[in-house]
Amino acid sequence: MSGRILVVDDVKANVRLLEARLGAEYFDVRSAANGEEALALIASWPCDIVLLDVMMPGLDGFEVCRRIKSDPRSAHIPVILITALDRTDDRIQGLRAGADEFLTKPVNDVALVARVKNLVALKRVTDELRLRAQTGSRLGLTTPFDPSGEEEARLLLVDDRPSSSSRLVEALGRDCIVDIEGTAPQGLIAAAEKSYDTILINLGLASYDALRLVSQLRALERTRLVPIVLVADPDDTARTTRALELGVNDYVLRPVERTELLLRVRSQISRKRGNDRLAADVEQTIAMAITDPLTGLRNRRYLETHLVSLVRQAREAELPLSVLIIDIDHFKRINDLHGHDAGDRVIREVARRLRAHTRSLDMACRYGGEEFVILMPETTLDTAEGVAERLRKLIEAEAFALPSQDEMLVTVSIGVAGFAGRDDNGEAMIKRADQALYEAKGAGRNKVARDRKASAPQPPATHAGSDRAALSG
Ligand code: GH3
Ligand code: MG
Ligand code: MG
Repeated sequence: MSGRILVVDDVKANVRLLEARLGAEYFDVRSAANGEEALALIASWPCDIVLLDVMMPGLDGFEVCRRIKSDPRSAHIPVILITALDRTDDRIQGLRAGADEFLTKPVNDVALVARVKNLVALKRVTDELRLRAQTGSRLGLTTPFDPSGEEEARLLLVDDRPSSSSRLVEALGRDCIVDIEGTAPQGLIAAAEKSYDTILINLGLASYDALRLVSQLRALERTRLVPIVLVADPDDTARTTRALELGVNDYVLRPVERTELLLRVRSQISRKRGNDRLAADVEQTIAMAITDPLTGLRNRRYLETHLVSLVRQAREAELPLSVLIIDIDHFKRINDLHGHDAGDRVIREVARRLRAHTRSLDMACRYGGEEFVILMPETTLDTAEGVAERLRKLIEAEAFALPSQDEMLVTVSIGVAGFAGRDDNGEAMIKRADQALYEAKGAGRNKVARDRKASAPQPPATHAGSDRAALSG
């Protein structure tokens, strides 16, 4: 993994040392000799991590950190503060300034590399999400974040020592809901079943290797990205370091200082929530990009992509595949006589009926204004024609309600085409279905017509069961 690291320290020898260690891990390292220089460099050289000495003349590390974190352009960059002594006061002050991590001088090589790698990996996830969400918001696809809808944070504490867990809960309790599990296996189950904002683990579990629990949590889809904070003994350095390599996000040392614990947990929670929000925005963006807003059906763009995969599947597995194109008859008249809103309502109701009366395996899409396409995997042309006839009838049979309280009868014409063997493709299938549709219109509308050129033998329907299912419903 490579990444850009900015080292800020007024003592040249310290800078050299860090540059050498990180350079050996193939990080791209630059340095600044004071706070002003660092802030200027960050503005022009987007880096992945800032390693920041606390004691510097001019702006000290806390102030530089505060400025990085209060500027929206740099707030997402993780900051590791390097303190001269392992003093709790410094840590708390650093956490208040928004620092993500701490290292104490002299800097331990393994801890340095583990923490830097950990933060760079986390930042990669966040950056990717930020990028996608930005695209979405630029397109106006996502809704702005409303902090009033935030729920109370939910924590999972895995600790088998009641005296220790009750102290931790007391420290955290007022801030969030804490579930306690007394064994690692129960902890794993709880974490897999519920969604937690942070998981707190006692590194010194008596009956189970806490590191194993960490790696299990990192392997589960549900908990892969949930922050993990360890409670560790100060002399358990080797295992703490190993835990960081396994993907633990942070740790607090015993005796646990309440404010430090709270601030560390809070910073993990806010990072997790930020990422969750970004992920939700991305999901929303994707969903909106492939969904037709009027009907909620998949749109043409999605259909075209999906059809390519279905055709490949049909070709490889030698399974039948059919498509229907459905076009509302004399739709212009509906608009002209009853208004555009009535037209929209008819389109929505046709979409609903199509969706409600096809298998879940079939995919109904809005292809254009008043045209729909249904893709039917594992369905022969004969069966598809039967389905089309059934759909035609159920549109015709029941009157459509209009916004004016009036009702009207609506009919559709349907063209059917089937996958015609190895050389066929999705675009050609749609074209043939469209040709058949044209014939259905020519024959007087409210008709089903099938692709007559599909003389090439249909692949055999090996899945007779699912094929039959296409007829029912
Ligand atoms: P045919 O039976 O030959 O299909 O006749 P038609 O009137 O349905 O065909 P045509 O394709 O000429 O007209 C379709 C009309 O659908 C034209 C367009 O104004 C209207 N339309 C397209 N999209 C929408 C929409 O989203 N809402 C509404 N209300 N009307 C739409
Ligand atoms: Mg029409
Ligand atoms: Mg049309």
